[in-house]
Amino acid sequence: MTLNLTEETAPEGYERLVFAQDPESGLQAFICVHSTVLGPAAGGCRMWNYATVDEARTDVLRLAEGMTSKNAMADLALGGGKSVIIGNPQSDKSPALLRAFGRAVQSLDGSYYTAEDVGISPDDMKIVAEETPYAVGLEDGAHGTGDPSPFTAQGVFQCLLVGAEVVFGTSDLSGRRVLVQGLGHVGMSLAEKLHGAGAELIVADINEAALQHAKTAFGATICDPAEIFETEMDILAPCALGGVLTEATAQKLSAKLVCGAANNQLETPEVADALRARGIRYLPDYVVNAGGIISVAGEIHKAGTSYRTERLDGVAARIRTLVDLSDKTGRTTTAVADDMVADILAKASDAARGAA
Ligand code: NAD
Repeated sequence: MTLNLTEETAPEGYERLVFAQDPESGLQAFICVHSTVLGPAAGGCRMWNYATVDEARTDVLRLAEGMTSKNAMADLALGGGKSVIIGNPQSDKSPALLRAFGRAVQSLDGSYYTAEDVGISPDDMKIVAEETPYAVGLEDGAHGTGDPSPFTAQGVFQCLLVGAEVVFGTSDLSGRRVLVQGLGHVGMSLAEKLHGAGAELIVADINEAALQHAKTAFGATICDPAEIFETEMDILAPCALGGVLTEATAQKLSAKLVCGAANNQLETPEVADALRARGIRYLPDYVVNAGGIISVAGEIHKAGTSYRTERLDGVAARIRTLVDLSDKTGRTTTAVADDMVADILAKASDAARGAA
């Protein structure tokens, strides 16, 4: 039991930033609570081979802030938080490391709930849960909701249909060229749905086995990840990591619609304007990819799977509202969504002040 917790000075606008280290298991992790205005913070745990501690810190801060927006827009009584474990999920993960991470989550005493994200599976979460009740996305247990990824994929797919109708005048995806970047838990599930809907799939990943599966199972064409922005497509579905859309890539993208699961797809907020100027419809990631957190919210609120059944369709309905408002006001969907989030948070803060 060598867990060391360092409370770092959280940047302005953030509530807490904790760096956890456990020399015995090799754990190095950040837990960030961005906001608890709407309720306890909730957001997944990412395990990634960050090159430096600073890179991991930057990532957790962006991801945690994004969770505040995501949970607010999904109308959940949850704030925003996230955690990242520094290390290669293939070679550095161990039960001892996951348990040490669970103790770090427990030290926040319920102000942060963790779940699966990139590099972390439901089996891993089960080990984390041995140390804390604030680990969700579990396969079993009275209110377990399991892997959130299929529900994230379902929400993305439904939003993509809305986007296709708006951009191409029909939600029929037959023959529509859709490039899925990242064939992980969400991307592969999305690819399966797109294939079922008749889309012509193009796939890019750094994992050869995933590419071969998509090729065999869905007849997908494989694209080198470095060639994505040189490839002809109708729709781009980013389902790998963040920052894929930059000022430069926005100028090259051939798609007319972007709708995917990856968090923080825009390198900077201004990229939304660059996409709009080129007539490309971008559906904000934190609205589109809320299916997973909606699923685990059912576990947090001890409502089980019926919670997501009642709320999952709301994801595409919110995208429809955003698109309509964007068209009406001439602003990007991102700007409209960001304003809505600010409004939700301001109202909740006012209500809390009034009650105090
Ligand atoms: P995952 O780890 O299962 O899959 C990520 C995939 O991306 C892997 O197949 C990986 O090989 C691939 N990849 C990594 N770098 C790449 C690159 N440079 N080019 C192409 N492919 C690359 O993760 P996931 O759970 O499927 O999540 C995917 C994205 O969606 C992440 O950004 C995650 O934060 C976001 N997200 C996931 C959920 C969820 O429910 N899992 C919910 C909301 C948002």
